[in-house]
Amino acid sequence: MPQTKPAQEILERAKAIHEDIRTWRRTIHRYPELTFTEQRTAGLVNSVLVDLGIETETEVAKTGVVGHIRGGAGPLVGLRADMDALPILEVNGTEFDSTRPGIMHACGHDAHTAMLLGAATILKGLADEGQLPGSIRLLFQPSEEAQDDEGKSGGMRMVEEGALNGVDAVFGIHVDAHHDVGHVATRPGPMLAAADMFEIVIHGSGGHAARPQSTVDPIALSAHVIHAAQQVISRRLDPTEHGVVTIGTIHGGTVNNVIPDTVTMTGTIRSFTPESRQLLRSELKCAARIVEPLGGRAEVTIFPGYPPTVNNPQATAHMVATMQEMLGQDNVSESELIMGAEDFSYMAQAAPGCFLRLGVHNPAWAEFYPVHRADFRMDEDALPIGSAALALAALRWMETQR
Ligand SMILES: [Zn+2]
Ligand SMILES: [Zn+2]
Repeated sequence: MPQTKPAQEILERAKAIHEDIRTWRRTIHRYPELTFTEQRTAGLVNSVLVDLGIETETEVAKTGVVGHIRGGAGPLVGLRADMDALPILEVNGTEFDSTRPGIMHACGHDAHTAMLLGAATILKGLADEGQLPGSIRLLFQPSEEAQDDEGKSGGMRMVEEGALNGVDAVFGIHVDAHHDVGHVATRPGPMLAAADMFEIVIHGSGGHAARPQSTVDPIALSAHVIHAAQQVISRRLDPTEHGVVTIGTIHGGTVNNVIPDTVTMTGTIRSFTPESRQLLRSELKCAARIVEPLGGRAEVTIFPGYPPTVNNPQATAHMVATMQEMLGQDNVSESELIMGAEDFSYMAQAAPGCFLRLGVHNPAWAEFYPVHRADFRMDEDALPIGSAALALAALRWMETQR
């Protein structure tokens, strides 16, 4: 099927609603909501979609919203945005700063949500003009940043509840404070890591600090475990693979002259393939047993987190070609591997997917303001680019993948 619209026209349509997209973003930014409490944000999303004449489903994955734009008989394309914020106290001092102390959209999910609303506006417009050859599933998911008591995140629940059923391809965007506005990056295959949490409890036997011979000192044992845990990466993992084992917390003891009974450590394991993920989990358990010949015992619990985000080669080649068409060859680069994790990974398992990093750094800024920081900021000129990227990726997929 020939292309119905030049890329520049889609970009122009996005720029024409820049004001709306920015207002949505700033409104959501003012009222950030944590994991699975995104009722206000979902309400805004739902009302914008309903006003556009888009059929919606609410309370998907607890607090998510799914929208349906029906066009021609071509492919069904899923477009995803996450809606949750982080427990961070904002320090930016803008007029649209968070009004909720200790909660902040520091990962750009406000922008993701606003950009998808922008894309929905463009795509519904095309559908109403009879210019959308397929259909769109709008996936506004809750809780990307955290899992609930059952260990489930918003993306995982969306997939479980069937929101991706029948979707031929799925695309998502994340803001990237290390790339300038107008620049995007992605890569085929694994792009973001799997993230598993672990807890190690080292059991010794406490007593008087001046009588160590009648104790098994778990603090001394913990030093061996810390060392052995790093050997998992340097000696057990194939050096051509990527992985991280980080111990982030260590707690033991209450006072200087008492040897405690236990020490508890928590940390994270990052990996890119199912094989290395499995290996790091089992080798960490093995490494912790180093305390046994020294009289202690280690209990290792793995809390499984998100799988690696793996971009489908065909969907990624498509995204790259589409972005080159819209932004020019020089403004599309191959993303590096990122040790962070994303629950878009579940959607990319459910359908051929591609996750795109969208530059939001203003080149005039001397510094970078990365995500997950209290001073995270973005150049809002990136907003219409993100909307156009989602809309065009979907449109071109329908035109070329029939
Ligand atoms: Zn984040
Ligand atoms: Zn994020």
